[in-house]
Amino acid sequence: MIQYDFDLFIIGGGSGGVRAARVAGQHGAKVAIAEEYRFGGTCVIRGCIPKKLLVYASRFRDDFEDSAGFGWTVEGARFDWLALIANKDKEIARLEGLYRRTVSNAGATVFETRAAIAGPNTVVLAGDGHKVTARVILVATGGHPVKPDIPGAEHAITSSEAFHLKELPASILIVGGGYIAVEFAGIFNGLGATTTLVYRGERVLRGFDDDLRSGLMEEMAKRRIEVRTHSDVAAIAGKPGAWRVTLKDGSATQAACVMFATGRMPNTRGLGLENAGVKLGPVGQILVDAGSRSSVRSIYAVGDVTDRVNLTPVAIREGHAVADTLFGNKPWTVSHDLVPTAVFSTPEIGTVGLPEHIACQRYPKLDIYRARFRPLKHTLSGRDERVLLKLLVDGDTDKVVGCHVLGPDAAEIVQMAAIALRMGATKADFDATVALHPSIAEELVTMREKVPAPHPPPKAPLPEKKGYDETA
Ligand SMILES: Cc1cc2nc3c(=O)[nH]c(=O)nc-3n(C[C@H](O)[C@H](O)[C@H](O)COP(=O)(O)OP(=O)(O)OC[C@H]3O[C@@H](n4cnc5c(N)ncnc54)[C@H](O)[C@@H]3O)c2cc1C
Repeated sequence: MIQYDFDLFIIGGGSGGVRAARVAGQHGAKVAIAEEYRFGGTCVIRGCIPKKLLVYASRFRDDFEDSAGFGWTVEGARFDWLALIANKDKEIARLEGLYRRTVSNAGATVFETRAAIAGPNTVVLAGDGHKVTARVILVATGGHPVKPDIPGAEHAITSSEAFHLKELPASILIVGGGYIAVEFAGIFNGLGATTTLVYRGERVLRGFDDDLRSGLMEEMAKRRIEVRTHSDVAAIAGKPGAWRVTLKDGSATQAACVMFATGRMPNTRGLGLENAGVKLGPVGQILVDAGSRSSVRSIYAVGDVTDRVNLTPVAIREGHAVADTLFGNKPWTVSHDLVPTAVFSTPEIGTVGLPEHIACQRYPKLDIYRARFRPLKHTLSGRDERVLLKLLVDGDTDKVVGCHVLGPDAAEIVQMAAIALRMGATKADFDATVALHPSIAEELVTMREKVPAPHPPPKAPLPEKKGYDETA
């Protein structure tokens, strides 16, 4: 039998890679992991976690304003960007340490360097060119943001740099209409920057339920985020802090900072995948089967590098499934259906199941239930903000096939609703559930009136796309 240095060599110490290392180690496999930057990957270092911390920071503004209607006087509230960034960095460093300890505690050998593939069972380490062999190689290298190829693109930042700005810009122009674009629009707007979103499509968040898209755009407008649709950037010129941005229609605008949230690409370039004959898809993603195995039997790939559903919990489950299947004698695959997801815009979105434009194609008798109302809190705060809750039900089976929420705590609400949908809950099950009063979520179990479908089904269904791919 061929002897390998390791049972499993993982390239990438992010969400998927670290989970696979821990689980394979616990199953007794001899594991190695290479990380070229910082353990924790995108989610911990420059994604979900720092983003959510910035979202929290940005929402205090609402709290201060809303408190007046409840009798509070908040005087002298000031915001310090550098204090926020320093505190955020401290927490990220703590989490990075936890991730690092997780792999060490699992007995994995750690290589703090870039790694590439030299053959079906061989990895080459960039540091010293040393080669190691493994029975299985798992690629979990994630993705990176891309900027459009326009003059002056080098002057713009992406989400990666947004976490390390030296100061809060007085104004920001964000290009894109996906998750990251609308989340950062909410962050910068809440922190006090004049915020403009430039998006080439008609409505932000392509692929999401249309009511969520329109509802969010209305709320963004109320918050004075200027959303310029059917618009795109042609060139950026000027100097730091005063960029002149020319749009494709010939008009121009100024911003202290320009941010591209226009797409992410899988990290496959320079990875040596061609040395082993691994097949890639059109955007450079590693093509894998349901068990995350690539076209080469000994090479697997999980997470964003496969461009399936680009979310942390999905990468984690994929890594876990590979480790259980190969080393724990517990074969299973990850279902990419009914993955709940949130957009941490302000107000936020939580969604699970199908959006209406796809559900109405799949279920000819689709029942739609929708509620839009001003939440109790704003009767006193005076804030002009409405929540939206929507259930889509297959009229033939009564099964709930989509649940969409726009409003405070939408992510928390939808995480729970996702359990019901996964269990195959019917509208009758929702109706039989006692309301929790007074809450926003109670509307999900008290909606009785069907609404007529407002949109005729499109001729060709749009692809359903969930995850942090901003190519919207
Ligand atoms: C701004 C932003 C916000 C996000 N917010 C959310 C959110 O709220 N919720 C959510 O679920 N998802 C969110 N995501 C998506 C989430 O971060 C990713 O889906 C997740 O991190 C993917 O995990 P992964 O293991 O595939 O890759 P990553 O976590 O990206 O890990 C890949 C690792 O591989 C390393 N690496 C790359 N190439 C090599 C090499 N050749 N050698 C050695 N190491 C290498 C990288 O340094 C990195 O550490 C967000 C993403 C972004 C950008």
